[in-house]
Parts: sequence; structure tokens; C-alpha cells
Amino acid sequence: MKKLALAIGAVAFVVALGMAAPGSVQAKKRFISIGTGGPTGVYFVVGQSVCRMVHKEAAEGRSKGRKHGIRCSAPSTAGSTYNIANIQADELDFGVAQSDWQYHAVNGTSKFKGKAFKGLRAVFSVHAEPYHIIVGANSGIGSWGDLKGKRFNIGNPGSGQRGTTEVLMEAHGTMKSDFKVATELTSTEQSKALCDGKIDAYGYTVGVPNAGVSVATDGCGAKIISLAGSVEKKLVGNTPYYAFTTIPKGTYKTTASDVTTFGVMATFVTNASVPDDVVYEVVRAVFENLDDFRGLHPAFKNLDPKNMMKNGLSAPLHPGAIKYYKEKGLM
Ligand code: GLU
Repeated sequence: MKKLALAIGAVAFVVALGMAAPGSVQAKKRFISIGTGGPTGVYFVVGQSVCRMVHKEAAEGRSKGRKHGIRCSAPSTAGSTYNIANIQADELDFGVAQSDWQYHAVNGTSKFKGKAFKGLRAVFSVHAEPYHIIVGANSGIGSWGDLKGKRFNIGNPGSGQRGTTEVLMEAHGTMKSDFKVATELTSTEQSKALCDGKIDAYGYTVGVPNAGVSVATDGCGAKIISLAGSVEKKLVGNTPYYAFTTIPKGTYKTTASDVTTFGVMATFVTNASVPDDVVYEVVRAVFENLDDFRGLHPAFKNLDPKNMMKNGLSAPLHPGAIKYYKEKGLM
């Protein structure tokens, strides 16, 4: 009897908790997660910055502010393809992904052959990401062909650069066995490994400038080589998601002149199953605070709303994002 009374009391308490006090807005608390990349990359800053804007928008003790109840976290992850796979598996709500992997995931091509993710939705694009080949100061590597017989870091599985490196290898007819060793270090490990003489070069798709890259360029004289030969021209010419881009001279201590290479866009993606109001609030938080957002990393300096809602996006836009873009007259 006592047990039953206790149970009824507990139910009443829970019901009371669930009811809003008269006159107050009771927002349901919701936790969202954003997949990023390695902790020294730019994706990590994208995730932290989105969460920062989401929390800034929220009431959080202020009388004004949006009572959206969203709490956001953006852990470091393996990168693009890991993020897409984990959004599909409902392990993450959002993620940052290279535009080439967004394209392949939604179309079921390349790495995603036979496993198209039809529920993948685009939200917006962020910064440009050149594909870098960074070579040791005394490695003697000046072109893709010179990587033959060298210790080359092809990147950790799940990262965007791992996939893009594989695409480049295939386009050049390069096999793993053509390298002396093909390592799978993460973006956080690769610069130190290069400076310690454990590898000769690494491939990395990342925004400019990047603190991880500068560890190698400014720290031990590593150089970024150009990648704009006939193979890359064909890649850029035949696909909607690659474009030639420049890493401007002076970006790092060893970039004495402009470096031309091909690159992609960093994009922000989600699942069609994520509620419209959640996506709307996230987009709203970023776009209404874009000046603040731009100041959080030099790679965000030139973000332009009109480009962000279309560049590099191949998956359908999420309806929650469309709602905001229409409201703002951007669509
Ligand atoms: N482009 C990389 C990837 O897709 C991540 C770069 C970064 O962390 O900024 O995994």
C-alpha cells in the first residue's frame, strides 16, 4: 500500500514537472550532436562555433532570447565519411563533410557505391578546403610522381582526405604498394610525424589557414606542393564538386608563392529525420550571428549567406533550412 502511494506520488511529481508554470514558456530540452574532425582541424572549430551560436541564441537566464531548449555538443571525430555514416546510423544529428563525400553519399557512388544515403540533407556550406600535399623540407618531393617509394600518410579511415587521396591515387594509377609505406595517421598526428622524420609527406583536405598544417610548415620547413597537372584537370573538369583553388603566398612561412591545387567545400549536413524546427533553429542561430561566426576562424572570414545556401551542396536542402532561407528572402 505504501509502495503504491509512493508510486502515485512519483507520477504526480513527474506530471507537475512536465507542466509549464502559468505564463512561462517551457521549452523542451533537446540535445544535438555535431560530428567534426580532428581537434586541430577547422571542422572542429565549425562545430564549436555552431554550438556557440545555438547557445548564444538560447534564453539561458536572459529574459530575451529564443526558448528553443537546444543544447549542443560537437566532439572531435574521424572526419567527413565517419560523420556521414554516423548521421545515417542516428549516432549524430549533424556533421561537417566535404562536398565530394556529400555528393557520393547521396548518389551512392565511389566509397558509397551500393549504400546510398537517401536521407542525407544539406544545411549550408562553410569554407573552402584545398587538398594539400605537404612534404618534408628535405624529402625531394615536388610532384605527385615523386611520392613513389616514399613514406606517405594517406590519412585515417573515415576522414575526407583518406577518401580524396584514394580518388587521386586511382586517377594517377598509383597503388598503395607504390609507396614505401602508406600510413593511416590522423590529422592531429601527421605534422609531428613529418617533423620527426617518420613520414615524408601527407595528404590533407583542410581550410586555410590551419594550425595543424603550420606545425609542419612553420615548425620544420615543410612545403605544400602544387597539384594542377592533366590528371587533376580531368578530375576538376569531370565532377561538380572539385574546383581549382589557391593557397595564397604568405599563408605559411614556406609558402613563398601561390600554390595551385584542387579542392572541395566544407558542408554542414544532417538527416531528413531530424525535426524541421531543430534544423531551423540551428540555421537561424548561425545566420543571425554570422558576423560573430566569421570572427571565430580566419577561414570563415568571407562567408556569404547567398553562397552558403548553395555552394557545394548536392543533397536536397533540409526543409528546416529552407524555411529560414525563405523567411529571409534568400530563396
Ligand atoms: N576535410 C577533413 C575531413 O573531411 C577535415 C578537415 C578539418 O578537420 O578541418 O575529414
